[in-house]
Amino acid sequence: MTTPASQGTNLDPWFGAYAARTAGLSASEVRALFAVASRPEVVSLAGGMPYVSALPTELLQSAVDRAVREQGPVALQYGSGQGSPALREQILDVMSLEGIRASVDDVVVTTGSQHALELMAKLFLDPGDVVIAEGPSYVTAVTVFKSFQAEVVHVPMDDEGLQPQALQETIDRLKASGRRIKFIYTIPSFHNPMGVTLPWQRRVEILEIARRAEILVVEDNPYGLLYFDQAPPQAMRSVEEDGVVYLGTFSKTFAPGLRVGWAVAPHAIREKLVLANEAAVLSPSSFSQTVISEYLATADWRGQIDTFRGVYRERRDAMLDALGRHLPSLDWTVPSGGFYVWLRLPEHLDSKAMLPRAVKELVAYTPGTAFYADGGGRSAIRLSFCYPTPDFIREGIRRLANVINGELELLGEFAQTGSLPAQTEQTRQNLLPPSIG
Ligand code: PMP
Repeated sequence: MTTPASQGTNLDPWFGAYAARTAGLSASEVRALFAVASRPEVVSLAGGMPYVSALPTELLQSAVDRAVREQGPVALQYGSGQGSPALREQILDVMSLEGIRASVDDVVVTTGSQHALELMAKLFLDPGDVVIAEGPSYVTAVTVFKSFQAEVVHVPMDDEGLQPQALQETIDRLKASGRRIKFIYTIPSFHNPMGVTLPWQRRVEILEIARRAEILVVEDNPYGLLYFDQAPPQAMRSVEEDGVVYLGTFSKTFAPGLRVGWAVAPHAIREKLVLANEAAVLSPSSFSQTVISEYLATADWRGQIDTFRGVYRERRDAMLDALGRHLPSLDWTVPSGGFYVWLRLPEHLDSKAMLPRAVKELVAYTPGTAFYADGGGRSAIRLSFCYPTPDFIREGIRRLANVINGELELLGEFAQTGSLPAQTEQTRQNLLPPSIG
C-alpha cells in the first residue's frame, strides 16, 4: 500500500511503516530557517525567540535554589496531571490582568501552550475534520492540526484581524457542503504572524457567530500582556466561558525554556484534557512549575513584564522606522504589541524564492507561505523584532531592502527584455541551503 508518508524519501528504511497522518509532518519553513539564521553574521528577523537576556538572572537563580533546597521533594517528584494547585492559583492572577475570571479547577497546566494545542487536536480532530483559522495563522498550530489529518481552512484578515463577515460565509459554505467544523482557532491579540489585534466589537461578533453555529473557539493568547502603549481588548474568554478554550503561556512573559503553559476549558473538556495530559506526559514538569511558582511569589513579575514591553517597543520602533526609511513604497502592519510585523511585497515578488538571496545578503525572514495551509502568502513576509537589538534590526532591514530592490530591478529588466539574466535561476538554486527546500 502506498501511504502518503511512503511517497517521501526511500533513503529511510522505515518509510513504508509510518502512520498516514505523518504526511502532515513536514519540516516547517520556520524550522528549516533556524539552522541558517543562527549563523552569527546573519541578522535573523525570522524566529520568534523572546529576549530572555532581559530576565533578572539572580532572582531566577534563587528561585531555582529554593525549588531544590526547600521544595525538592515536590519539585523533583511526579505531580498532578492537571498541574500544581499553587501555580494554577497564581495563573488566575495572571489571567485576571486580561479580564478572565476562572477557578483553580478550570485550569490545566501543559508543556507550553504548544502542548495544549496538541491535546486539543487529539481530543477533537478526526481525519477530514475542519479547523477554521485566520489566514495567515501560527505555523506550528497549522502543523499540529494537519498532523491529525484535519483540513485547515483560512479566513481572510485585515489590519483589524479576522473578518467576521468572511468567517460567517466560510462557516455557511463548509456546512452547506457537509463538512464537520471542530473549532475556530484564533490569536486575537498581537497576532502571529500579522501583528494585528482584534477590536472588542469583532471579538463579540465572532463569539456570537461561533455560538450560533455551535462551534468551539480556541483562543490562543501568548502575547496579550506584551502591549506597547494601550492594553488590547480583554480576552474573549472574559465574556464567554462555555464556548471558549483559552490558551496561555509563560513563554513570552517569562521564559520559554521552562515549557509551561496552560488551558482554561469548560468542565467536560477540561476533564478530558487532564486525561490526555496524563496519557501524554503523566504530569507537566514539577520542577518548572515550582520555579515559576517561586518566581511569581517573590519577584516583581508585573514589573518584569513592563521591562519586556519597553524592550520590544524600542525594537518595534526601530523596525518601523527602518522600513519607512528603506522601503517607503511598501505596506506593512503596525503592531501595538507582541513580536511581529507583516510586510506585503509587490504581488509579483515571491518571498520564498527570494529567501536564498536574502540569506546571501545575511538577513533572514520567514516567507508568508509558512503561515498558510493552502499555499497562500507568497508575496508577504513575517519580520520578527523580538530578538535582535535595534541596531541589528536597522541593519537587517537595510539588507532586506537591498534584496527586495534588487529583485524588483531584475523583474523590471525582465519586463523590458523578456528574459532574466541567464545566471539568475541557477544562482538561486546554488544559494539555496539544503535545509530550505
Ligand atoms: N501560539 C502562538 C501563537 C505562538 O506564537 C507560540 C510560540 N511561538 C505558541 C503558541 C507556543 O508557545 P509555547 O509552547 O512556548 O507556550
